[in-house]
Amino acid sequence: MDENGRTGEAIRRIVIVGGGTAGWMTAAGLSAVLGGTRIAIDLVESAEIGTVGVGEATVPHIRNFNAKLGLDEADFMRKTQATYKLGIEFRDWGRKGESYIHPFGAFGQPLGGVAFHQHWLRARQRGEADSIEAYSLPIIAARLKKFAPPATDPRSLGSTFSYAYQFDAALYAQYLRAYAEARGVRRTEGKIQDVSLDGETGFVQAVILESGQRIEGDLFIDCSGFRGLLIEQALKTGYEDWTHWLPCDRAAAVPCDSVEPPTPYTRATSDDAGWRWRIPLQHRVGNGYVYCSHYISDDEAARVLLAKLDGKAQADPRFLRFTTGRRKKQWNRNVVAIGLASGFLEPLESTSIHLIQLAVSTLLELFPERGCATADQDEYNRVMDLEFERIRDFLVLHYHATQRDDSAFWRDKAAAPIPDSLAYKMALFRDRGVVVKYRDGFFLEPSWLAVYLGQNILPRGYDPMADAIDPAEAARKLAELKAAVQSTAEAMPDHQAFLERFCDARGAA
Ligand SMILES: Cc1cc2nc3c(=O)[nH]c(=O)nc-3n(C[C@H](O)[C@H](O)[C@H](O)COP(=O)(O)OP(=O)(O)OC[C@H]3O[C@@H](n4cnc5c(N)ncnc54)[C@H](O)[C@@H]3O)c2cc1C
Repeated sequence: MDENGRTGEAIRRIVIVGGGTAGWMTAAGLSAVLGGTRIAIDLVESAEIGTVGVGEATVPHIRNFNAKLGLDEADFMRKTQATYKLGIEFRDWGRKGESYIHPFGAFGQPLGGVAFHQHWLRARQRGEADSIEAYSLPIIAARLKKFAPPATDPRSLGSTFSYAYQFDAALYAQYLRAYAEARGVRRTEGKIQDVSLDGETGFVQAVILESGQRIEGDLFIDCSGFRGLLIEQALKTGYEDWTHWLPCDRAAAVPCDSVEPPTPYTRATSDDAGWRWRIPLQHRVGNGYVYCSHYISDDEAARVLLAKLDGKAQADPRFLRFTTGRRKKQWNRNVVAIGLASGFLEPLESTSIHLIQLAVSTLLELFPERGCATADQDEYNRVMDLEFERIRDFLVLHYHATQRDDSAFWRDKAAAPIPDSLAYKMALFRDRGVVVKYRDGFFLEPSWLAVYLGQNILPRGYDPMADAIDPAEAARKLAELKAAVQSTAEAMPDHQAFLERFCDARGAA
């Protein structure tokens, strides 16, 4: 071992355990960069065990991942039955009957160097502002079911948003499998029944399949899903349980027929013991009820879910169990856990695929030259821990900032303790609308604003710097922006028409 805690030889063989969304995203991401080197990549998966089979909504970062792979957008969308996503509509989260959209884009532009929402807060106090939604192009476009790609000119209003996809995650994994295999990733079908550890270092040496085949490696990526075959079962890394903050522990999922053109947004509707998702794809709608088993039985959750579908169910509901939280170390010895093996924060803001992507890019940035240095692991774990915690705080905000008091679940949630890091962010916002900023990572200012304001958390005051602009002038600018947002959104094509023109997947279903 050297002074950096580095043990072992140069990495020559990488073994990815698992072929779900995480396994194939990792295989594609690594093979895109390492394909031309002498490093061999193996992937082992078991059709008998299967994949978790859910995870259809994404966040805009996935476009960077696809771009790094050089995927053709229209081809990828056609093959995965994808639709566009401009944000998430939250129904009944503040109070029952209310709706707000968390957009992938900004609310207005700063005026005189002061954040737009500060001028909006002042105008609102003076009775001179509309709902904050009126000043967001992606929200108004989503409400009108319109879509056009963002403009490239940064001065244009049409450039003030981004977008993500709603797709069939199983088809995405298949698509990436073809990509990775074409770049030399070797796939082995089979069930791993044993893991061989080095008696001295505790490093994983090989996985052994039921057939007796032994697959050796220098670096192992555990994408085996909730079971954490290497990171937990073999290395006993430990799990930080966050159920006291994020209490949902089950989900029932079912696809149904579409009865209307797909909306360019996902919907999350709060329900008596959790919330329901609705994700429209080109060929069907994905639905699920994420709930806390302390408050509702599986049978009752399935009954509620089926009763609230748009169209005819295409299958019986599938049940999934999980514990919210994260692995104590995402990189331990020569094992890096990616995907559900690394932890799960529940699907509320569709962040799991983003975490997979971040894991792959962080691993590539810190790719060990030789062995696995403690410093590399520490830095990787620091980056991933920070992102898990930031996402956790944002998700907890949705549950905490509710005025629903019509079910035991929501009454308990509103009263439950929250992480200190979230309490601090909320205190700053409640005072004069300060949103704690991150230099990079999730989530940025517009996201926090959307949830605070959408769930009726209003600051007592506003930034005094906003007073440097005459209120009448600010009110005029707000009115102009609102009109421009409305007319720009109205001029966009219908989402359905855009899909048909760009990436029609009918016939591919
Ligand atoms: C209810 C729910 C809703 C979700 N919604 C979203 C969403 O909208 N957006 C989002 O980004 N994410 C979502 N997620 C998360 C998303 O589903 C996962 O992040 C994603 O599917 C990755 O899963 P995975 O590949 O880590 O695990 P899995 O899909 O479980 O894959 C595990 C793989 O390991 C293999 N394996 C396991 N054990 C063995 C063994 N012994 N031998 C050989 N192979 C083995 C399996 O065969 C499989 O190939 C959701 C998750 C849940 C539970």
